[in-house]
Amino acid sequence: MRLGVLDGRAVVVSGDLAADIHMASRGKLPHDPMALLEDWPRVRDWAAGLPEKAYDIPVDLTALGAPVPRPRQVFAVALNYPPHAAEAGFTPPDEPLVFTKFPACVTGPHTTVALPPGKVDWEVELVAVIGHETYQVNADRAWDAVAGLTVGQDLSERVTQLQGKPAQFSLGKSFPGFGPTGPVLVTPDEFDHPDDLEITGLLNGEAVQRDRTKSMIFPVPELIARLSAVLPLLPGDLVFTGTPAGVGNRMNPPRYLTAADELTSRIEGIGEIRQRFTAPEHH
Ligand code: ZN
Repeated sequence: MRLGVLDGRAVVVSGDLAADIHMASRGKLPHDPMALLEDWPRVRDWAAGLPEKAYDIPVDLTALGAPVPRPRQVFAVALNYPPHAAEAGFTPPDEPLVFTKFPACVTGPHTTVALPPGKVDWEVELVAVIGHETYQVNADRAWDAVAGLTVGQDLSERVTQLQGKPAQFSLGKSFPGFGPTGPVLVTPDEFDHPDDLEITGLLNGEAVQRDRTKSMIFPVPELIARLSAVLPLLPGDLVFTGTPAGVGNRMNPPRYLTAADELTSRIEGIGEIRQRFTAPEHH
């Protein structure tokens, strides 16, 4: 199942057509994606039996909103791909390095982001969405907790992110528009190998980041096990799972986003999201 959000209403997407979940269920299911995530197994089973003729809305994929517009918790993980840990000058961590992107920064897949003053960098990431309340689950059962996967950008203003001693990442990663997600949430059963997806970040059409999600130090089930060992994960929570090598501040010379840039973030089997930028205001 591919869940999208069109004009604030949840839809099931198939190719360039969609079915409005509230309408197609004759009012049995709500139109709010957050409410659907509270009752996810039922929604998924209902969608599996949806007849082809229910898909009656033409979809412009660039018009979709965030598949999870109001997550309660947004987890993010630093240095989860060995080449990125190496380029950042660290040995691979023994425990996931967890911070938050405050939920107000979450947006849909096609946006224009106002660059704050500073050094704004890109990080393409696979995002796992939690499908039911999960506490202290083992890794071998953790995929059951996942409603689906989507594409995210962990946009990061490096000055704010790194200025503290010790650095506290979360504010520098939470400026308005810094958490674009989408275009759709794809359930794990749609993938042959949900643990091994090509992930690519393109700057003005050129691939600057490329890896496979099987390279992760802590794969999705391991992250869910370790996060849920500490606190309950809630339906609709987002887990940004870390970025591959190729971020701008490790280039020589460093490269940061400008108003002339277009950023595309793509994951096999899900799709792509695209960001443009406007320059900081000078006073
Ligand atoms: Zn990141």
